[in-house]
Amino acid sequence: MSNQSKENSYKEALKELAANCGECCGICCVALYFTKMDGFPEDKRPGKPCSNLTDDFKCKIHSDLMKHQLKGCMAYDCFGAGQKVTREIYKGLDWREHSECAGEMFQVFLIVYQLHQMLWYLIEAHKATSKNIQNQLTLLIQENKEMTKMKPAEILGVDVEEYRQRVNSGLKEVCHSLNKGLKQDKKTFNYMGKSFKKQNLDGEDFSMALLIAADLEGCSLRKTNFLGADMRDANLNNTDLSDSLFLTQMQINTARGNSNTIIPGSLIKPDTWK
Ligand code: SF4
Ligand code: SF4
Repeated sequence: MSNQSKENSYKEALKELAANCGECCGICCVALYFTKMDGFPEDKRPGKPCSNLTDDFKCKIHSDLMKHQLKGCMAYDCFGAGQKVTREIYKGLDWREHSECAGEMFQVFLIVYQLHQMLWYLIEAHKATSKNIQNQLTLLIQENKEMTKMKPAEILGVDVEEYRQRVNSGLKEVCHSLNKGLKQDKKTFNYMGKSFKKQNLDGEDFSMALLIAADLEGCSLRKTNFLGADMRDANLNNTDLSDSLFLTQMQINTARGNSNTIIPGSLIKPDTWK
């Protein structure tokens, strides 16, 4: 396979893990517990629909989430679990019309969400690493896809923690191999509010770092590792992130950027950046 075809197949695989709310019955707006303090519109128990969810599963205030400062809603990303559960696992049934499946559907969603999140990291890791480790990751990816093809009752029986341990050990191996090429040893995790303006941060390891409100404007970020970094309110204006590693939709949704910010092709630019 040519490099271009490989790149395209990774892009397609990651795109399938982008939330497609039009193909979902608003599951996250019902299934999840959330609070006003975390940037959601109300304090709500799991299973209770948000009061802004319409009868046809749309958000009544979608275009005003920013105005209402609903950062929790703006940041949330389900890694494509919503449409998978609605369209594939429940074949288009919805929790409102089929209330007898609602509780089960929400539990299945919580498991598929975790599996899809791990799948997303596995694909990113596969893209970034050498052939030796890729074989191990390929098996984990295949296993993941098989699990989400199962029936709801079987999905509920999946040992997510056991699978997660194996995924984490694969990801650690990838990070270890990436860190070998780093310019410096990583000793700091806390970069809250730090100004990096226009620095060359190519290949830097920001995995699990606190980048809250950090200023990365104009920085060079080729192969920069953002695995698990907290990027709330980080300034990404005028940066090219197309080649950075492990950057999720949720990180993008919580950071600040502008029309010049370039993001990986599998992610969606927030409306507020345009
Ligand atoms: S669960 Fe996912 S696809 Fe469904 S509404 Fe929420 S974000 Fe959109
Ligand atoms: S405000 Fe809209 S996006 Fe947020 S939880 Fe309610 S329906 Fe969902």
